[in-house]
Amino acid sequence: MSIPSVSGDEEAVGFFLRDYLTSLGWKVELQRVSENQNNVIAYLNDTPRVFLSTHMDTVPPFIKPTEDATKIYGRGACDAKGIIAAQITAAENLRKENFVDVGLLYTVEEERASTGAKMANAHPLAAKCEYLINGEPTDNDLAIGSKGAFRLKVKSAGKAAHSAYPEEGESAIEKLLDILNDIRNTKFPGDEFFGETTVNIGMIEGGVALNVIPPAAEAGIAIRLTTKRAPIEAALRSIIKERGEIKILSCSEPVRMLEVDGFKKKVVRFTTDIPYLTNWGKPLLLGPGSILVAHTKDEFVLKKDLEEAVGLYEDLVKRVLNTESQSTQS
Ligand SMILES: [Zn+2]
Repeated sequence: MSIPSVSGDEEAVGFFLRDYLTSLGWKVELQRVSENQNNVIAYLNDTPRVFLSTHMDTVPPFIKPTEDATKIYGRGACDAKGIIAAQITAAENLRKENFVDVGLLYTVEEERASTGAKMANAHPLAAKCEYLINGEPTDNDLAIGSKGAFRLKVKSAGKAAHSAYPEEGESAIEKLLDILNDIRNTKFPGDEFFGETTVNIGMIEGGVALNVIPPAAEAGIAIRLTTKRAPIEAALRSIIKERGEIKILSCSEPVRMLEVDGFKKKVVRFTTDIPYLTNWGKPLLLGPGSILVAHTKDEFVLKKDLEEAVGLYEDLVKRVLNTESQSTQS
């Protein structure tokens, strides 16, 4: 946590993990993503069947770590450096019990465009891997679904004119307001498993001056998808009709993850690297800490949650490899 690794600046933390894991006896590869960004891939034998993974980058700004008796504070405490520490500890414990089919995958750029994950998906070890246990702060519950994210702009065009002669122009802002109002009043299709599709109109822009009929306006919208993109996009187009146009910025569809008996389950609303790591086997998602403090200045993780996560990762690995140990029911 004391090595800054805001997205785009992960080189030092990657080198640290390489050196640390090498010193423990892992085979470590750096997978180059850009000039100064590398994914870290570590393993003990040539055919790891399960990988523990998360990301090394954080959101800005860097906040140096501090602690008290019960918590660790600072950037990456729960998202996701605490998770890296818990996973390495779990993997080392498993190794002592001779579970050597385990690998570790740490990516760059998850907080931006998952560039690291996209690159990792082409790694030759992916094809041999059966399960990917990804870590994000889920309060140590097993996330069995994550909503998707559909980001777009709605643009409207009008005709500029002197504001004293409105009949000479056409207001793009008024058109956009009408469209946005219709969007707000629409109940978009949801899904029984994933829940409600929610819409956030996060940005709005337009106009040139108070005395000019605005010729252009646009709004940025983020939709948390619980269905495929197609029905939502179709609904938007039928709302907007000829009044404006859509520019799609990005989209990841909702993902279902593996369920495992005995774990507390939930659906999470955030997105992860998982949609871009499709070649790495069946995905699972679990991690210590709360998404509600991730990305805030008060980010922290409870020490007891980190310790609990170590045991949960060990259990999950054993469970997916069908070698459940009797003593580890939680
Ligand atoms: Zn994260």
